[in-house]
Amino acid sequence: MRFSEPKVNNRNWSHEVPDPTAEQQITVPSGDSDVTNTQNDKEVLILREVLRLIKGYMSKNENKGTPTDFTLALSGPAGACDGCKKRIAKLLDLCAGMAEAFFASGVQASLTITYRYANPAAHGANGGMYGWPTDEREGEWYMHTVYREAHGTK
Ligand SMILES: [Zn+2]
Repeated sequence: MRFSEPKVNNRNWSHEVPDPTAEQQITVPSGDSDVTNTQNDKEVLILREVLRLIKGYMSKNENKGTPTDFTLALSGPAGACDGCKKRIAKLLDLCAGMAEAFFASGVQASLTITYRYANPAAHGANGGMYGWPTDEREGEWYMHTVYREAHGTK
């Protein structure tokens, strides 16, 4: 599911700070059935961990002036279900809001999540559509990238 550790500016980062409220928003970003039916998907724990890592990074004042790229690479036989797509979007929203509130004025931060998967997009049992129908196969894999950047306001 995860084919590399989450990175901060291409380096490993391990300091986590819990945020139960935000983590719950990732587990259940909406009341849609594709979300409520898929709360045990493997992505849930990974995305929650990444949120804790980002929060941990943003707990260190010495990082306020450093342009920062957070990256996460996911991999699986199938692409993300519709519920996990909403979780990924929620993590991007939360990260952007945290970055605006943490970084010094104008300092750029971004979060990039890549999803590598083997099977073409298809409807599944619980989570709606697995994968992104617009992705084209690149060699053995389908690749999907989501990206968000924000600028500090402090
Ligand atoms: Zn899912």
